[in-house]
Amino acid sequence: MRGYLRKIIPFSSVDGPGNRTAIFLQGCNFNCLYCHNPETIDIVSPDNPVDNVQFLEADDLVEKSLEYKDFIRGITISGGECTVQIEFLIEVCKKFKERDVEVYIDTNGHLSLKSFKELSRYVDKFMFDIKAWDVHEHLKLTGVGNDKVIENFKYAMGIGKIFEVRTVIVPKILDNHQTVLEVSRLVASFEDKIRYKLIKFRNKGVVGNMKEINTPSDKYMSKLKTVALNNGIEDVVII
Ligand code: SF4
Repeated sequence: MRGYLRKIIPFSSVDGPGNRTAIFLQGCNFNCLYCHNPETIDIVSPDNPVDNVQFLEADDLVEKSLEYKDFIRGITISGGECTVQIEFLIEVCKKFKERDVEVYIDTNGHLSLKSFKELSRYVDKFMFDIKAWDVHEHLKLTGVGNDKVIENFKYAMGIGKIFEVRTVIVPKILDNHQTVLEVSRLVASFEDKIRYKLIKFRNKGVVGNMKEINTPSDKYMSKLKTVALNNGIEDVVII
């Protein structure tokens, strides 16, 4: 089976725990207003060729990614949104597990529960974005609703496969307080200790009106962190 690869970063310390090889697949099912990697969004098809993308076999991707196997803790697969190529992704994850490699998936969670459950069988942990709690706000921000996101997130929590959940904090256009309040409530209702990462929006590299939005202040971020802590999350990180 073949799929579309954007790039591989042999060593990354920001894509999960320890030193990891990070794989970025091409294509995304969201169109976030604040996307910093818009070149990864286009879904490749015969009618829509995309530059700087390799079309390769699952075996070849696995081989390439394990070039530095002795120096990494595991693999993280990201995008774009890697689950857009779900069959290819499952095939790749299966092959990593056959080689006893730790697999993390960075996802926006927007896929059917059936596919997500199948994928979960071959994944150690998910790094999961919840971009907005309110469905209308999520739609405005990403172009789609968040019902699948929340459903899959709850499933992954239930089977103990969430490494961390992340929300990008964007002043003025999002109800950040509501999202942090509801996500932290949800996370605290499960037993596992899960990190909640609050990411400051930064306007470098974004396009259109988003360039006019400033990075949230430290004071504002601290207030949101306090909301999550008060809800019972022990590990809240601001970056
Ligand atoms: S989910 Fe990620 S890659 Fe996709 S549009 Fe949003 S920020 Fe960009």
